[in-house]
Amino acid sequence: MSTNHLMGVYNRAPLEVERGRGARLWSTDGTEYLDCVAGISTNGLGHAHPELVQAVKDQAEKLWHVSNIFRIPGQEALADALCESSFADVVFFTNSGTEAVECALKTARKYHSANGAPERIDIYGFDGSFHGRTYGAINAAANPSYTEGFGPAMQGFHQLKWGDHDAIKAAIANPTTAAIIVEPVQGEGGCRAMPEQCLRGLRELCDEHGVLIIFDEVQCGMGRTGKLWAHEWAGMSPDIMAVAKALGGGFPIGACLATARAASGMTVGVHGSTFGGNPLAMAVGLKALSLINTPETLNNVNEIAGYLKQQLAGLQSRFPDVIVDVRGKGLLIGVKLVPNNREFMALARDTQQLLIAGGGDNCVRLLPPLNLTLDEARELIVRFEAACEVAREKWAA
Ligand SMILES: *Cc1c(COP(=O)(O)O)cnc(C)c1O
Repeated sequence: MSTNHLMGVYNRAPLEVERGRGARLWSTDGTEYLDCVAGISTNGLGHAHPELVQAVKDQAEKLWHVSNIFRIPGQEALADALCESSFADVVFFTNSGTEAVECALKTARKYHSANGAPERIDIYGFDGSFHGRTYGAINAAANPSYTEGFGPAMQGFHQLKWGDHDAIKAAIANPTTAAIIVEPVQGEGGCRAMPEQCLRGLRELCDEHGVLIIFDEVQCGMGRTGKLWAHEWAGMSPDIMAVAKALGGGFPIGACLATARAASGMTVGVHGSTFGGNPLAMAVGLKALSLINTPETLNNVNEIAGYLKQQLAGLQSRFPDVIVDVRGKGLLIGVKLVPNNREFMALARDTQQLLIAGGGDNCVRLLPPLNLTLDEARELIVRFEAACEVAREKWAA
């Protein structure tokens, strides 16, 4: 076996994974790792959670897939549960985050076109965003390393600078603006959390000008920040929201949530998916949501996040030559480094058996499962600290 026949789009770590349990991951050579990547914020309940495993097994013996031309009870149940626990009235199920974003972008434009304003096509994203890899998603995020070489920029996509209030106001006041798309807490882009008053300000301005707000909570949603949805911290809500990653606990699933008003253009035949919302995915999604949307899980996120934040602040003051900044929200933690983040990740993996994710702005991301225990959190800090020691010796100026 080799990676020779895989399209070479990933710079893979030299670690062959075999199995996982909770926050532990084992490679084929038997090495045990503490996994604070969690499938990039996807295995919210850790690996092989017994109730998720059971949900897959039970459903696998009943029915995997039918077309959306039939009623799928699990889909109706998960849509009910998502709407009960959010601002939304309706849901469209997808297989991934980028498809959920795609549906969100289409829903926004279609809303305006169905409501007598077809000229409203402009969608504004923010620098440092990540929305996935489909054409709509790469154009919305406009990260040059993801768009270059893929043809002309799609019409109607524009970028705003995080914190450039004048440009944001002008964009929203523009009569051809359809929507703003933003991650309340950026994931890949370096874990920047948009201040709560800015989110509320966006809501007011968008309401004033008839512009829709799309939140991409693919990474920061599903309990990651200590509330089910990250925007709940700001006491406001979007019109449309893309969700995925932890919604399936590791099983591929995504969802586009919307208010009835925002979804008013999404009528019979205008959108669809073969696999989206299939019975197997729905069974896992229902179970994952029911386990994550509990005071127990959400309180645990807040408790563990508080502990980690405090400990990491301590490490930052002890290792100013390694750690520049600690940011993010809840268990979406970004640590901005002095040494190269990719090299630090490899060092943490190889010397401390600690798995962490990369991120923009030379950050590493700590994205442990939401049910991480305090003992595991302590272990995470011990390993991270040891990695800082090794980094200090290795890269001492
Ligand atoms: C991962 C991610 C996506 C894309 O999800 P895929 O399932 O990889 O398509 C979109 N938005 C954000 C914020 C993400 O973190």
